[in-house]
Amino acid sequence: MRRRARNFYLRVAYVAAALFLLAAVGLVIAAHWPRAGAPSEAVALDATSTAAPLAIAPTTEVSATSTSTTTSASPSTTAATTSTTIPPDSDPGFDSDLAMDHIKALASGIGPRVSGTDDEDAAIGYGADYLQGLGYAVMITEVPLPNGRVSHNIRAVKIGTSNQVIVVGGPIDSVAGAPGANDNASGSAVVLELARCMRDLETTATIEFVLFGAEEMIDSDPDHHHYGSRQFVRDMTSTERSQLVGMISVDMVAYGTTFTIRTMNQGPQELRDMLLDFSAANGYEAKFLKDKGTYGWSDHEPFELAGYPAAWVEWRRDPNYHTSRDNWNHVKSKEALVERAGEMIFRFLLDLTEADLRYLADARELD
Ligand SMILES: [Zn+2]
Repeated sequence: MRRRARNFYLRVAYVAAALFLLAAVGLVIAAHWPRAGAPSEAVALDATSTAAPLAIAPTTEVSATSTSTTTSASPSTTAATTSTTIPPDSDPGFDSDLAMDHIKALASGIGPRVSGTDDEDAAIGYGADYLQGLGYAVMITEVPLPNGRVSHNIRAVKIGTSNQVIVVGGPIDSVAGAPGANDNASGSAVVLELARCMRDLETTATIEFVLFGAEEMIDSDPDHHHYGSRQFVRDMTSTERSQLVGMISVDMVAYGTTFTIRTMNQGPQELRDMLLDFSAANGYEAKFLKDKGTYGWSDHEPFELAGYPAAWVEWRRDPNYHTSRDNWNHVKSKEALVERAGEMIFRFLLDLTEADLRYLADARELD
């Protein structure tokens, strides 16, 4: 009798466990279903697409400027919304799950990605494939390095109602021996997710998403870095120079306790101040931090030195950066940090008005 009762309770427990599992699986499927379909649905490119081939070949500088790119680079406008105020956790919005997937793919799937190596090329290919899958016309440009190797930048433009451009860039390489989960996969992961979640939203600013190659130092000279971003600035056409009004660098956003907006404090500081004001007004609580010494510490550097309002969004501090311990395990529980950085930039970009862009344009100190 007692035994039969125990069997009965056991059976009840099994059934309850099975039901619970079923419900959990159902929830997971429900949560992932629409997202999983999104990238492939987006492949429908305009028939006149001029998307660059994804093979990393010596591409020449494509003549299209950021905003004179044909409409093939423009996301579908059907889903556009006129609302620019999006509550923090509404959908559509920045999805940190997807950003974490990119970090894992880059840091764990590819691993260390030294500038100009096959591993960095694999990461460039990953980013370019993803952006093209979203429906962007992707441009890959060569970045020759002084050590004879060649790195690459990836560029994708989201057309806004204004032709004034904000570059949102993250580095994709890592130092030797470091899987570079926080430094630098987290930055490019956030840029890729921003490109996804903003694709169909109407923005005033035209946004150019860039993954920069060769951000890290290539030898012991502390100035031998930021090759992708330096070349980007050097190679801009006169039209691009006139249309670029600001640059946001996203780098090392998956570890730390202090949320910062950083600059060299040498170029125009208007974008920094706008980001600080926005973060204070919307609960993101970022603090200003000046780059140490005279060097810029991320890809905002060449933009700031060229006279563009530029700023770097970073979480501080990461004791594992530039070591083999900067791996997926190091950052996998830090999704909330990635979310805060990505969502703040997402909402900031959505909120930019024509007047804001004019203000940034007037703040430039170009030669
Ligand atoms: Zn680094």
